[in-house]
Amino acid sequence: MKILLANPRGFCAGVNMAIECLERALDYFGSPVYVYHEIVHNKYVVDRFSKRGTVFVETLAEVPEGSPLLYSAHGVSPEIRQEAKGRRLLAIDATCPLVTKVHLEAIKYAREGYTIILIGHEGHDEVIGTMGEAPDQMVLVETAEDVEKLELPDPDKVAYLTQTTLSVDDANIVIAALRAKFPKIANPPKDDICYATQNRQEAVRELAARADVVLVLGSQNSSNSRRLAEIAHSMGIPSHLIDGVSEIQSSWFEGAETVLITAGASAPEDVVQECVDYLQNHCGATIEESFVREENVHFPLPRSLRELLDQGAAPVADRA
Ligand code: SF4
Repeated sequence: MKILLANPRGFCAGVNMAIECLERALDYFGSPVYVYHEIVHNKYVVDRFSKRGTVFVETLAEVPEGSPLLYSAHGVSPEIRQEAKGRRLLAIDATCPLVTKVHLEAIKYAREGYTIILIGHEGHDEVIGTMGEAPDQMVLVETAEDVEKLELPDPDKVAYLTQTTLSVDDANIVIAALRAKFPKIANPPKDDICYATQNRQEAVRELAARADVVLVLGSQNSSNSRRLAEIAHSMGIPSHLIDGVSEIQSSWFEGAETVLITAGASAPEDVVQECVDYLQNHCGATIEESFVREENVHFPLPRSLRELLDQGAAPVADRA
């Protein structure tokens, strides 16, 4: 058996930044550090940080006044920022800059009087945060059928934005439906679907054709990981989205000569390596790294955290 390892795979620049942010915040403040929602949508990452004294919350009421609070990579609405201010929380914004870009586009279009159609998945943390920028002027659609049902006050003053982690192919279908229904629809100059999502999807699209089975490392609530498994599935290749090696079933590999392994943007590389080890030990697999695209993207830590770290004080002791 041969393992094809997809490149790029795993952590993106936004996830790297958010994770480093939380590590540095834990070093600086000591525990507990609170995080609004999961820092990234990955079970392993969340479990590891929970063990180090991170408390993940779904409401700010769970955070004691004055405590350090990180916003996750998926971003938050202005309402949450306001609430955090009211509770005197030490907020550090670990939102991925590519999510912030979509927020800024929403603010701009809302100011200019557009109705904004957001293409995204209902209930996703990123979608909730983005919709919060202009709740009265934004509507959410997921499919071309949703577009058909849209009734908007001024069909000539409409813009669309997208969630950063959509399937490029699915988004294009919805965008085509929007353009057909609203010929004057405006859109941002650059794609909202981020580089990491596009590159990981491109790699799977290109490499899955050479595989009998595809393993995608990632959590069920990770949007970009789910899309990778769906692409392989749509090509007629059995695909399995798993958090880690413990979910592997040996029956998946019966008769398989080539297994493609990839990982969503929030899945750590060590969980990939555990799966590689499993296939080497149980199936005598050999490894081929397959490079579809280079990535050299890096995001700096948020300024609020850099300023705290530059001050060099150690409030860990102060808080004891
Ligand atoms: S998947 Fe894209 S938008 Fe999401 S954190 Fe990574 S780089 Fe940012």
